[in-house]
Amino acid sequence: MNETPLTAAACGLLSCHVCGLVSKAARTGGTAHCPRCSTRLHFRKPNSVARTWALLIAAGIMYVPANLLPMMETRSLFGSQDDTIMSGVIYLWHSGSWDLALVVFIASIMVPLLKLIALTLLLVSVQRRSVWQPVQRAKLYRLVELVGRWSMLDIYVVSILAALVQIGSLATIKAGPAAMAFGAVVVLTMFAAMQFDPRLIWDSLQKERHEHE
Ligand SMILES: [Zn+2]
Repeated sequence: MNETPLTAAACGLLSCHVCGLVSKAARTGGTAHCPRCSTRLHFRKPNSVARTWALLIAAGIMYVPANLLPMMETRSLFGSQDDTIMSGVIYLWHSGSWDLALVVFIASIMVPLLKLIALTLLLVSVQRRSVWQPVQRAKLYRLVELVGRWSMLDIYVVSILAALVQIGSLATIKAGPAAMAFGAVVVLTMFAAMQFDPRLIWDSLQKERHEHE
């Protein structure tokens, strides 16, 4: 038994990310296409690291207005009020719904931040060809991907509240500019996670092993 696992890329084999067919890479240049479903083939997602960085930085920038601008604008006969995510959390906390405050805090402030940190960690470790904890990093990547679409909580809360209050018609609730920024953070981090090629985590290990051989 050979200790080093053999990778398809090392044998010049490409796998199709749509239908899963493994095919031999053409010796000639140009783009390879899957013989079964004609999808474009590549050993690793092209420019994965650079594209992920671009999306991640954009998400990081949008995270600032998402937290600083008002998320919800309430207008009623008694005046108007603008709430940011954090002021909403504080309001919920003081009004006794500490459990809801906790949920909003975790889903809207902690999770996006942790996602940004996790993707940065993955990118930096891949760029430095780190061999540190590859299994844990692969698990971290899967977690980031899984969380992706489940972190739109704030948008849901605002839209449900707006619909409920509109019925009352004494007050109006509108989603503030932070809602757009917040949505952008969620979508951009989702795209960043999609652009990242988790196989890069294992590539540096492969190289490391070859150097020792
Ligand atoms: Zn295919």
